[in-house]
Amino acid sequence: MANVRLEDIKRRFNNVTAIEDITFEIPDGEFWVLVGPSGCGKSTILRTIAGLETATSGKLFIGDRLVNNIPARQRDVAMVFQNYALYPHMTVAQNIAFGLQMRKVDSKIIQDRVVNVARSLSLENLLDRKPKQLSGGQQQRVALGRAIAREPQVFLLDEPLSNLDAQLRDDTRAELKQLHQELGITTIYVTHDQVEAMTLADKIVVLNRGRIQQIGAPQSIYARPANQMVATFLGSPPMNILPASYQNHSFDVSGQLFPIPTVVEERLKLRQGQGLNLGIRPEHLKINTNSEFNTENSALLQVEVKVVEPLGRETLIRAGLPGSMTVLNIQTSGDVRPRPGDRLSLELDLNELFVFDPKTGDKIF
Ligand code: ATP
Repeated sequence: MANVRLEDIKRRFNNVTAIEDITFEIPDGEFWVLVGPSGCGKSTILRTIAGLETATSGKLFIGDRLVNNIPARQRDVAMVFQNYALYPHMTVAQNIAFGLQMRKVDSKIIQDRVVNVARSLSLENLLDRKPKQLSGGQQQRVALGRAIAREPQVFLLDEPLSNLDAQLRDDTRAELKQLHQELGITTIYVTHDQVEAMTLADKIVVLNRGRIQQIGAPQSIYARPANQMVATFLGSPPMNILPASYQNHSFDVSGQLFPIPTVVEERLKLRQGQGLNLGIRPEHLKINTNSEFNTENSALLQVEVKVVEPLGRETLIRAGLPGSMTVLNIQTSGDVRPRPGDRLSLELDLNELFVFDPKTGDKIF
């Protein structure tokens, strides 16, 4: 096993800079997830670590070894792709054994390892089948098995669950997590799915436009996002962003004014008269039914219900601010069931409020 260290990695394709300033170190045995919107550079980073792509500049270490000029097959990493890439004419057992045979590993050892890997992935009964006789989830497990059997120092997984249907994706995600707990192999996992990122990662690297936005444990990034991009990318439904202006000791949100407590105002510094984006998570909006609320730390916002989505344990409500295009996501308990057209009074907890610069997306607080 090994740690993986990237120092100021950059990759250009002709005039396009796909990634730059990429610096992080994954300690031995940890599970890190690279996440971000399409085209942000996730796969380029993973492929660079795998040796399928060459860095334009920067240093890449696996363990203590500088591997920039080491070919992919000598890096001791195993990569699993979204499309499985199994050999169609081989059985499951032959697919799992293939990498070991190429390395001329002793046939008895290969046999033992195939049995062990098949057991840990619940593939024992499928060893004689060909890939086309398997479901998508089973094929992906074989692809994982083939990678595990090689006992690499590092696992690289590029959207391995994206071709599976929802139920299978959930199951396989849990299996992957368990597998990592058992094997403890350093793993780097690419996805654009923030649920996968939140549930699997020891640490998440959030990327946007080829640059790192934030690195941290899932819960700490969720609670303390570095900027508006990170804030709106992690969380489902996403954080609400309310365009507002700040004047006369109040926020003006589409004509609704609410006073700003002094402590909050101190943090806004000299932004009097400027536009701001207010960020509030759907779970921090409470429907106020008795008009009694803590005026110190809360504000009331009037909204009109547009869509109600009952999900059993909880209800998601989409509501609009009158006279504006802004739509808010509200997460409430399952027994709350307003109807489209209802007017609601929303209590907004000012302690949970984020404020962003609308031009740069930088966090003001
Ligand atoms: P997705 O989630 O859509 O797979 P990604 O985050 O993995 O996206 P990359 O595939 O790493 O993004 O691409 C990053 C940027 O580099 C994109 O703008 C892409 O168009 C560009 N890029 C990637 N590979 C090449 C290439 N071989 N030639 C030119 N541009 C490339």
